[in-house]
Amino acid sequence: MAEGYVREDGRKNDELRSPIKADVGVVPNADGSAMFQIGKTIAIAAVYGPKKMHPQHSQDPEKGTLRCTYNMNSFSVEDRIRPGPSRRSTEISKITEWALNPVVMLEKYPNEVVDVHINIIQADAGTRCAGINAAAMALADAGIPMKELVSSISVGKMDKTLVLDLDKFEDSEFEDGEGSTDIPITFTHSGEITHIQLDGKISSEQLKEVVEMAKGACDKIYEIQKEALKKSLMAGEGEK
Ligand code: ADP
Repeated sequence: MAEGYVREDGRKNDELRSPIKADVGVVPNADGSAMFQIGKTIAIAAVYGPKKMHPQHSQDPEKGTLRCTYNMNSFSVEDRIRPGPSRRSTEISKITEWALNPVVMLEKYPNEVVDVHINIIQADAGTRCAGINAAAMALADAGIPMKELVSSISVGKMDKTLVLDLDKFEDSEFEDGEGSTDIPITFTHSGEITHIQLDGKISSEQLKEVVEMAKGACDKIYEIQKEALKKSLMAGEGEK
């Protein structure tokens, strides 16, 4: 790992933020729901469906459609942001669909749609990854068949140093040397990448290191997601 950059919050370069919390069934009226928190970033995902797709011309007779809506709440950042969709939220909604689509068994739901609403209630960078982590748990909670869970994290390059799980300062305010590059990655538990974004300069050797760091982190996140799902299943059994 390249040396040089020292993290302001005292974390090691390969250390995730804390706390990391996951909870399932947080929106009782939804068909499935989950919360995922990492540091000061908190995402809530609620799943509705499967239900008939309207309008009819959007129906796919071969498989169902996964429709994700990412929304960063007005009060999620220090300066209140304008409510409603933006170019950024539209892009992140699409990315979330692409990250989840490979594991969701949509062939079971021809002509239907599964809606996933992701709300970021507190944003301190890494919100798309937190949203994907919450959405994967919410889909499982809704009983939508999935080949496996996905877990997501971002790796950053601060000047030349690789660090895991950027916070807002590292993501947006660090400008020394080559500045900061944010690389969000989503993994299936078996190690397939379903999503990677890279907007900046990086060598192929460092990119390999990025992927390894992200995989190690996603293995930890997977365990937390699995535990939250297990806890909710056991609570459900207790209620019967
Ligand atoms: P991600 O949250 O997935 O890292 P970005 O890199 O676009 O996505 O955003 C990084 C962080 O910048 C967000 O988590 C949030 O804290 C902040 N941010 C993004 N958009 C806005 C905005 N319109 N107003 C204020 N803060 C924002």
